[in-house]
Amino acid sequence: MALLVMKFGGTSVADMECIRNAARHVKREIDAGNQCAVVVSAMAGHTNQLLEWAREASPLHDAREYDTVVASGEQVTSGLMAIVLQSMGISARSWQGWQIPLLTDGVHGAARIVDVASSELTKRFAEGEVAVISGFQGIAPTNRIATLGRGGSDTSAVAVAAALNADRCDIYTDVDGVYTTDPRIVPKARRLSRISYEEMLEMASLGAKVLQTRSVELAMVRKVRLMVRSSFEPPERYAPAGGDLQNEPGPGTLVCDEDEILEQQIVSGIAYAKDEAKVTLLKVADKPGVAASVFGPLAEADINVDMIVQNVSEDGRYTDMTFTVQDTELEKTLKVIEGAKEKIGYSDLRGSTDVVKISVIGVGMRSHAGVAAKMFKALAEKGINIEAITTSEIKISILIEAAYTELAVRTLHTLYELDAE
Ligand code: ADP
Ligand code: ASP
Ligand code: MG
Repeated sequence: MALLVMKFGGTSVADMECIRNAARHVKREIDAGNQCAVVVSAMAGHTNQLLEWAREASPLHDAREYDTVVASGEQVTSGLMAIVLQSMGISARSWQGWQIPLLTDGVHGAARIVDVASSELTKRFAEGEVAVISGFQGIAPTNRIATLGRGGSDTSAVAVAAALNADRCDIYTDVDGVYTTDPRIVPKARRLSRISYEEMLEMASLGAKVLQTRSVELAMVRKVRLMVRSSFEPPERYAPAGGDLQNEPGPGTLVCDEDEILEQQIVSGIAYAKDEAKVTLLKVADKPGVAASVFGPLAEADINVDMIVQNVSEDGRYTDMTFTVQDTELEKTLKVIEGAKEKIGYSDLRGSTDVVKISVIGVGMRSHAGVAAKMFKALAEKGINIEAITTSEIKISILIEAAYTELAVRTLHTLYELDAE
């Protein structure tokens, strides 16, 4: 018998038909004698609608009330899922974050999980009851509902799996696994049967929204075995969890330790993020202390800077400086830099959201040279200009004009031999 956490995302619970279908996946496991905790998202699009209403109520709303509003979508689906499971003859009960309780910190809208109480859930498992848990939400120290940030149900599922010491956490979504890149923009993307935590972490944080970044972080730290699957596959396509949890039949991707992957590619995947904004300061003095005068005030304003490029100065006196921030922070960033204009000293300030960050990721880069050189050459041949570059041990990210997103991703996908046959 295995203990499983099964998470169903927004498209997997988008309407009653989808919820019924998701419930059949749960039934498959229950019928095989497994114990299940189910974590659900809100119906697809519902959270966006709730968020829109909060914004309409007032653009500058209280974060605690925002959480009260946006957490409600999951309450609906957890109740519906419990009812559907009961109608199939399965003992099931819904759980909101505060009932478990799933404790978070006080950062409303982007709260972090502090603790998940498991005793009551464990007791009910012993009685054969399925726990249907609302994802995305918990309870803050002030006793108010807190949400975990967009896509946060993935993190709820992993946290519950860690707390229950589950054998596996299955993330059911609308694709049947993690692909070499977003299959919606590259039809030739290939499903990876396994991906390491580290690569998945980079993929997620660099734009692949198939898993929320924090969920991967948590899975890596707590050693939770994560499986990404499609809820749209017929339930019988997957064998119920049994003796061999490593090699489950049926399409999916296992997120696991690097040493569990036999054939490691140099590049495993490509991600893109359109939520970057570029800021350029023209003609800043090329002297010590200038970078500090730019980035100091940004840090004080809590603005995260991602990529930074300082051009070589032609005359030794002036240079241009470019950096990127989250697009939602662009206006705030420009205000801060304008406010510090006298101290910094620049001739002109420009901001643009018309950029995309493309990243190639692979643990094989640690031991292989030339991945970047190959990338720059291929993009140059397509006439794509690179505006900024950052690297780490296992990834290279570049900033380009947004209009070239698809061309660049497809070019690199072919270049690193990731295309499906
Ligand atoms: P859910 O509502 O189930 O949480 P999401 O929309 O958050 O689903 O995530 C699934 C989506 O992630 C897919 O529809 C796909 O377009 C996108 N995606 C982006 N990059 C990848 C990738 N590398 N592999 C698989 N899916 C990806
Ligand atoms: N419903 C929430 C969102 O849309 C959480 C999730 O789907 O994971 O962001
Ligand atoms: Mg998601």
